[in-house]
Formats: sequence, structure tokens, C-alpha cells
Amino acid sequence: MMDCLFCKIVRGEIPAKKVYEDEYALAFEDIQPKAPTHVLIIPKKHIRGLKEAAAEDAELIGRLNLVAAQIGRERGIEDGYRTVLNVGPKSGQSVFHIHLHLLGGRDLSWPPG
Ligand code: 5GP
Ligand code: ZN
Repeated sequence: MMDCLFCKIVRGEIPAKKVYEDEYALAFEDIQPKAPTHVLIIPKKHIRGLKEAAAEDAELIGRLNLVAAQIGRERGIEDGYRTVLNVGPKSGQSVFHIHLHLLGGRDLSWPPG
């Protein structure tokens, strides 16, 4: 996907503060953090969003969650963090390359707005 912002980050065409990388996934600091820890975890494969994911993406989506748990452990925020997938424009999804938000390091209210 040539025009996709997060694909450009995967290709190194746009800089990002990388937190984690493996063969399948990349994690980097959100440019406008909403909490002391606000990391975005994305698959290297372009998937538009959760509703466009296919059965073959199941393992990849699981991997994103496990990367979030690993970063949560490393950051010492296991007393309370949240993973969020915004799905569709009414949820606030603004980048159409699936990404898991990892938010923590402060009290998190429920329900989210
Ligand atoms: P969404 O609103 O689609 O769920 O989340 C997109 C997130 O990407 C937002 O939290 C936004 O701050 C972040 N973001 C947008 N552009 C960039 C960028 O160029 N670099 C980084 N690191 N984050 C970005
Ligand atoms: Zn993409």
C-alpha cells in the first residue's frame, strides 16, 4: 500500500520511535500520546481494519495482543493498561491500517467516551 501512513512507517519512509519489531509486527510511540504509555502496535502486513481482517489474519491479530502484553510488562504498567482497536470512522479510526493502541501509566476511566 504505497499511500498508507503506517505502511510508510514499516518501510522506514516516515520516522517513528520504535518500541518493538519482529518479522510480523512493529510497535512505536503514538505521535500524540493520550497517556504516559501510548504505543501503537501494527502488523507489517497491510490490513485496513478489524472488520476487513480475514480468518488467515487470526494469528497476526493474536500476535499484536501479545506484543502489547510484553510492552506492558517491560513498562511496569501491569496494574492497569488498556488495549484499544478503533474500528470505523465513528469510533475515531483515522488511520486505515489496523493498529492496537496500548494505553497505560495513569488511571483509565470506564466506559471510554
Ligand atoms: P486511530 O484514531 O486511527 O485509532 O489512531 C491513529 C493514531 O495514530 C492516533 O492516535 C494518532 O495520534 C497516531 N498517528 C497519526 N499519525 C502518526 C504518525 O505519523 N506517527 C505516529 N507515531 N503516530 C501517528
Ligand atoms: Zn498500511
